[in-house]
Amino acid sequence: MKLATQPATRQINRLCGLPRFGELGKDGVAEMVRVLREHADNENHAERAVTEWIDHNKWLPSCAELIEVLEQTLSKPAKIKPNWDCEHCKGSAYERTWLLVTYVRHPSGEKKSTEETEITPEMAAELSQTVDNHFQKVVDAVKYCRCSFGQQIKELRRLRQAEEAQKGKR
Ligand SMILES: [Zn+2]
Repeated sequence: MKLATQPATRQINRLCGLPRFGELGKDGVAEMVRVLREHADNENHAERAVTEWIDHNKWLPSCAELIEVLEQTLSKPAKIKPNWDCEHCKGSAYERTWLLVTYVRHPSGEKKSTEETEITPEMAAELSQTVDNHFQKVVDAVKYCRCSFGQQIKELRRLRQAEEAQKGKR
């Protein structure tokens, strides 16, 4: 299960405005919560699916209909807004990061692999003075910002890639 009971229940409860929700009873609600937990990737996905249903239907979904709408909303982009005030990315979703790259030579002498450690900007400034730039280097890179916008963009990319991979298999 990818989704916890609490967020799933929260999303199912949003269907309460639809007719016959009250007739579901505890067991009926639990069954729908189970469906959401099993088929939603995360709360954002569950939320989009439930919103999609509420906006377009007048009746309470059956479990099968709930699964259907979850599948349909899978790849739709969420309505996400950049956080312009974010001190790390200023709304770009990316932040700069520094890495200490160490080249590790394979005992055979043939292969060379690298180890990367994320370091703070302060450490980067200090280390860049001391590393030999041959076996060890300080490099800067970009990564998804730690803010919710950056993480949502990261999640979106992941979904897109998963979708592309699926298409490739067919
Ligand atoms: Zn940010």
